[in-house]
Amino acid sequence: MTESYATATPAGGPIPGPVRVRFAPSPTGTLHVGSARTALYNYLFARHLGGSYILRVEDTDVARSSREHEQSILTDLAWLGLQWDEGPDIGGDHGPYRQSERSEAGIYRHAAERLLNEGKAYYCFCSQERLEQLKTETLARGDMPKYDRCCAAIPPDEAAARVAAGEPATIRFLVPDAAIEVTDIIHGRTDFSSEVIGDFIILRSDGGVSYNFAVVVDDIAMEITHVIRGEDHLTNAARQVLVFQAFGHEPPAWAHHSLIMGPDGGKLSKRHGATSVGEFRRMGYLPSAIINYLALLSWSPGGEREKLAKEEMVAEFELQRVSKSPAIFDIQKLNWLNGLHIRDLDREEFHLSLAPFIGDAGSGVTPGQMAVAETAVQTSLVTLADANGHIQEIFTLTPLAVSVDAASPDQESVVAELGEEGSAAVLEMALARLEELPAAAELTAGMVDEAVDKARALVKEWKKACKEADIPPKRLFRTLRIALTGRGSGPELPFMLAGLGRDTVRERLEAAKPYAK
Ligand code: GLU
Repeated sequence: MTESYATATPAGGPIPGPVRVRFAPSPTGTLHVGSARTALYNYLFARHLGGSYILRVEDTDVARSSREHEQSILTDLAWLGLQWDEGPDIGGDHGPYRQSERSEAGIYRHAAERLLNEGKAYYCFCSQERLEQLKTETLARGDMPKYDRCCAAIPPDEAAARVAAGEPATIRFLVPDAAIEVTDIIHGRTDFSSEVIGDFIILRSDGGVSYNFAVVVDDIAMEITHVIRGEDHLTNAARQVLVFQAFGHEPPAWAHHSLIMGPDGGKLSKRHGATSVGEFRRMGYLPSAIINYLALLSWSPGGEREKLAKEEMVAEFELQRVSKSPAIFDIQKLNWLNGLHIRDLDREEFHLSLAPFIGDAGSGVTPGQMAVAETAVQTSLVTLADANGHIQEIFTLTPLAVSVDAASPDQESVVAELGEEGSAAVLEMALARLEELPAAAELTAGMVDEAVDKARALVKEWKKACKEADIPPKRLFRTLRIALTGRGSGPELPFMLAGLGRDTVRERLEAAKPYAK
């Protein structure tokens, strides 16, 4: 299957049968960006080929799994826009989609019994103490710990009778003596020797299923054609290939992508900063930027393009272009992409995305004023969380009187600048022609462009007047900016004028007069 897929897609030819992939998170925590990337690659691959992307919850570790974690993973995936076609919440033709429910339905026991009946698995009655002793002895000899097949010698009838009599037993997979080959779309071929793989437990004595067994039983039942996951599972694939073969089933095509590393080369973890999708959401990153960034960690559509919308990625995604090199998490690049994606939002989308981050920046101002402020800051944001501060720069005046006394050298120089020759004339000139500027009370969210255009026209007029009076344009801009905000920097002047509105502008220019020369 790997080969036919590999030769079929680059030529654009047919794929053998409909593609079905799965993202299989264990709900033991929140969604890590590494897992989100796995989900993304599955999603892009399925959508690119018109296949199905299935969500399977691997919650067999009862002690560590919870419905709360499952819910938060589903919420984060949906927020990223990676909506699944079948899953525990929406059902589908291959359910149930939680391993705990599959376990309760006896699916794994039934599958294990089939292997028992075919002589491909056997009951093991060894005690924990015996297994531990065996391990210690093997390690002491310098060998790999491996089960010694002691119970494989028990005749099946006898073993069945002991189990029927209530003796606790696990079921072990009988590892055949064969070379194991895992052909992976990203890694190429890896050979494993069954020599080093001991007969592993597939069903525990309490009925609990082992990971390597459950995954294969489910991948067969769910008709999975391609397994795309992190390369930490590559060695598991060796065991899984054997289980597929035991069921007489062709293994799926494998694609094990690299893991995300921190800048120091260690696996990305808390000590590097934020790692979960929820944290990035709360920090003001857009889902479109996160998936763009995660996709590019090991994949590129070729050429120089880096900023990509989900639809573009769907159109171009190919596993053959996924690199096997380790992916280093680079927050600067994520920041850069986030800024680009923020600039791409239309006003309504931007307004809605910004809402959770606005905090107190909008207090005391009208929706119309806020709309101007939002437009003013959109092009300068790295994250949505930065907006609050930038918007405050427009509306909150650092009083000049305070600035004069303030210790901050920044503000001192700003007030000193107001005392430069020409500033008094600038203030007079501006105050004389403010009528064109809409008042804050008249401003509506639909008037942003109109109000900013009027402010621009006004600034142009003032510039002309300054030229006639021989006042350099820099004096005009600096004087007004400092008079309006008490700061030397901030959004463009026309946005500040439009956002503050005629009356506040007049008030602040009047208040600056005593400092001007
Ligand atoms: N449940 C496994 C994990 O969260 C995924 C196993 C798989 O994709 O085969 O790592």
